[in-house]
Amino acid sequence: MSNPILIDPLKFAREGRVLTGKMPVSALDERVHSDLSDTSGTVEYTVEGFRDGSSRLSLRLRVNADVMVSCQRCLEAMPYQVATDVVVTLFTRQEKLDEAVELDETLDAILALEELDVVAMIEDEIIMGLPHSTKHDECGSEALTRAKADKPNPFAVLATLKISKS
Ligand SMILES: [Zn+2]
Repeated sequence: MSNPILIDPLKFAREGRVLTGKMPVSALDERVHSDLSDTSGTVEYTVEGFRDGSSRLSLRLRVNADVMVSCQRCLEAMPYQVATDVVVTLFTRQEKLDEAVELDETLDAILALEELDVVAMIEDEIIMGLPHSTKHDECGSEALTRAKADKPNPFAVLATLKISKS
């Protein structure tokens, strides 16, 4: 079990609070680790409380996680970035929740209990954000793929400009 980060969801949303943090992937629950090739990497998250356009208390959760998954072809590890951004609408009564979901099937609604574990929400988001099947562009050339994905260093670009001018 991972260490929970507990918030009172209704109070959090009512007061428009924001919670930002970072944790190692290794601190997450085993149910996340079982989908990964190893437990290296970092998770960054932001939870924001607010009222939506219909004045309903809501939470927005953004998660960015750099994880390692297994390539389905060569079974070697490959980096993968999970980036999710969800809004959860809070309800205090099941009937209201059911009613709202019936009107809007895309609504992500939960019954707000006194305590909500932010870490468990983050874990759910990562599990849902993981791809079903990932493959290297070219197995065995991971270093090459990574180098290509890297953004050019702006100083390196400047240096090249200077050289070509002289
Ligand atoms: Zn591969």
